[in-house]
This record gives sequence, structure tokens and C-alpha cells, in this order.
Amino acid sequence: MVRAIVGANWGDEGKGKITDMLGETSDIIVRFQGGSNAGHTIINQYGKFALHLLPSGVFYEHTTSIIGNGVALNIPYLFKEIQSIVERGVPMPKILVSDRAQIMMPYHILFDQYEEERLGKNSFGSTKSGIAPFYSDKYAKIGFQVSELFEEAALREKVERVLEQKNIILEHMYHKPTLDPEEMYQTLLEYRDMVAPYVADTSLFLHEAIKAGKTILLEGQLGSLKDPDFGIYPMVTSSSTLASYGAIGAGIPPYEIKDIICVVKAYSSAVGAGEFVSEIFGEEAEELRKRGGDAGEYGATTGRPRRMGWFDAVATRYGCRVQGATEVALTVLDVLGYLEELPVCVGYEIDGVVTRDFPTTVKLAKAKPVYETLPGWKCDIRGIKKYEDLPENCRKYIEFIEKQIEVPITMVSNGPGRDEIIYR
Ligand code: GDP
Repeated sequence: MVRAIVGANWGDEGKGKITDMLGETSDIIVRFQGGSNAGHTIINQYGKFALHLLPSGVFYEHTTSIIGNGVALNIPYLFKEIQSIVERGVPMPKILVSDRAQIMMPYHILFDQYEEERLGKNSFGSTKSGIAPFYSDKYAKIGFQVSELFEEAALREKVERVLEQKNIILEHMYHKPTLDPEEMYQTLLEYRDMVAPYVADTSLFLHEAIKAGKTILLEGQLGSLKDPDFGIYPMVTSSSTLASYGAIGAGIPPYEIKDIICVVKAYSSAVGAGEFVSEIFGEEAEELRKRGGDAGEYGATTGRPRRMGWFDAVATRYGCRVQGATEVALTVLDVLGYLEELPVCVGYEIDGVVTRDFPTTVKLAKAKPVYETLPGWKCDIRGIKKYEDLPENCRKYIEFIEKQIEVPITMVSNGPGRDEIIYR
């Protein structure tokens, strides 16, 4: 049985917590896209962790964690992340890295920085983790697969060939120091030694696991609106954030994904540039930012303050649809207990016409939010375990959202902890 946990919004919906929670009943947890550019925050008996590349299942002794072929694999980062959790008392996790995963090269990170510098005020607000240059090279067919690290002669020759092109760009476009092929080759041999203990044919491993009836979780990073096809292009990430890509990025048949849990946040937040219709500003935003998440809404990777907004039903219904959501986990609802009333964006007004359908980016730029306002519940809902025990206005807010997004809300998260969850 394969389940996917994915985001319906701009990311940071609290997928890490839901994955960590459902990890308890899973055998295998797979990262299938993205790299170390996004962070999941997880709070459990070992403490508080910000994971960037490791799947959120690494805290359980019974799970195998897989870095799938679709991931941008930063090998030294992976190595450091494993060490950092083990140092804090977490038992050494079982980790498998796909032999088809491609390697984040040191120059991908440089190119990401140089390009953002070059773009100046038009920059993408990249986390500068090398993601865009990495996926560009993968599809330009000049990337390096993990498997290639084990063929020395061919590797050396390819490094020379690829660096020839990279050095032209470094020298003439960015006016930066060029790269030495021998040094790069030696770095890759170090990478090989770091990753070697984990390398496996993970698609085959998953094939066998599915046959044996194992429970598998696919863990998405970011959310629908950051997908290169269906998101707010070009202010998106460079790999698909959709559950359907889970089949490719993990190497399993698409029909095996039976359950698609869309994580939806009870209000909106976004990092980086891009259209954000229900965005709020000033004190109103600062108040929500300070109260948001478990320690304020600041990027888990970069520490940047997140942009804040009211719940956007247009974007979220669309976000759930493109994910193919079968159920929704509504998170960080507890944060909203201070509000007198809660505006919910139920439509976009574009050129004088109100629509409920999420448009392409050019039209989105002209959209103004249409709000419906619900009364607040004015109390702390943390600690509540049963849906019926939630204040009436809080249930009304949940049920209003459910109606708007047209997917059943089966879980409501009312705190960052593993067991702060209400099943409906
Ligand atoms: P992810 O990338 O989707 O996993 O999201 P992040 O980890 O970046 O952001 C979610 C933040 O909200 C983290 O700091 C979580 O600990 C926190 N969080 C998750 N669920 C809840 C919740 O129900 N209530 C509160 N207060 N915080 C939550």
C-alpha cells in the first residue's frame, strides 16, 4: 500500500509532522523530488529537528528511508544530516540512496548564487541550494548519476567534458574563478566513499516491498503551487511537487499510489517571490507570523520571514485537485485562536469578473481576493483530542474550508507535536 503526503499550497504546510506521525505505521518512507532546499520541522521524543534532505521517517527504528531517483542528492549534506541526528541520540537510521539519483555538484550551488546575483532585483528568491542548475543539467543530460561514481575512467573523462562548458560560462558570463577538473574528480571520489554504504537499486527494492505488502509513504516537498507545470511559473521549484511525480521519482507504478494525503495549512504562508493573492501585510501579518508554526513563520532552511496571508480556498481547491487528493490534513489550526474573525479567500476578481478557478500566472497577477469572513473561536484548542470538543466556530471554519476545497478533511492538527492530531 503506497500513500503520498504532499502539500496543497506553497510548501511549509506541516508535511513533516504528518509524515513523522504516519511513519509510525509505515515500513518505508521515500523522498522523491527536490533536494536540501526545503526543510521539514519535526518535534518528537529526541527533540526538535529541521530535516532538509532526509525523509521524515528517520526517527523510527522500524522504517527504511529512501532517497529516490527524483531527488537532487547533495552527498556531503546528506552525510552531515545523518551525523547530526545520530549525534543527538537518534539511532542510526536505515537509509538507501537510489543508484539513479543524480548528484548535486558543487558548481550547481555556485551557479545558483551567481545567477541570483546577476538577476539582482529580478532574482527568484532562490534558497541557493543549486536546485535549478541541478535539474537543468539533469535534463540537458550533463548531470552525474550516483552509479557513475563507480566507474573511474569514464567519470574522469566526463568531468573534463562537462567542466569545459561550465568554465566558459564561469569565465565569460559570471567573471568568476574557473573549476579544475582534477580537483572536481577528487571531490567526486570523496562523494563516492561517503555515499557507497547506502547505494541501492531502490526502484527494485520498492517493487519487492510492494509485492510483500509493505506500507510505503512518499514524502513530497513544497506544494502544488510550486510545481513547474501547475504552480505559479516561473516562481516555482525545478522538480514536480505532485503526488503523480512520486511514481517517477521513486520508481514505482502510478496505480500503486492509493492514498494521496494533501496537507493544507489553516492560513497561508509562502517563501520567495511570486503571486500570492490573499497576502496580508503590516502588523496584521506580523502578528500571524509571530504566532505561526511552532516558533513563528521563518524558513526552516534560510530563516527568512515567510510571507503571510489568509486561507485561500481558490488556490487550495486547485492545489488539492492537481495533487489528486483523496483526503486532507488541515494543520496549524491552533494558531488562529487569537482572531476575532477569519477572512477566507473564496474567489479571485480578475478584470472585474469573479472566478473560483485558479488561473495561469499572467492572470493571477491581476487577481484581487474576494473574502468571506467567519467568526473566530477566541480560545486555545491545543490539547483537544476529539472533533466534537472543538469550539463550534472552529468546527464551522473547518467545515467551511472542507466545502470549499471539495475533499474530506480527515485530520486536524492542533499543535506541532506528533500526537497533537484530531481524527475525524
Ligand atoms: P513542511 O515543510 O510542510 O514540513 O512544513 P514546515 O516544517 O516548514 O512548517 C510547519 C511548521 O509548523 C513547523 O514548525 C511545525 O513544527 C509546525 N506545525 C506543524 N503542525 C502544526 C500544528 O498543527 N500547530 C502548530 N502550532 N504548529 C504546527
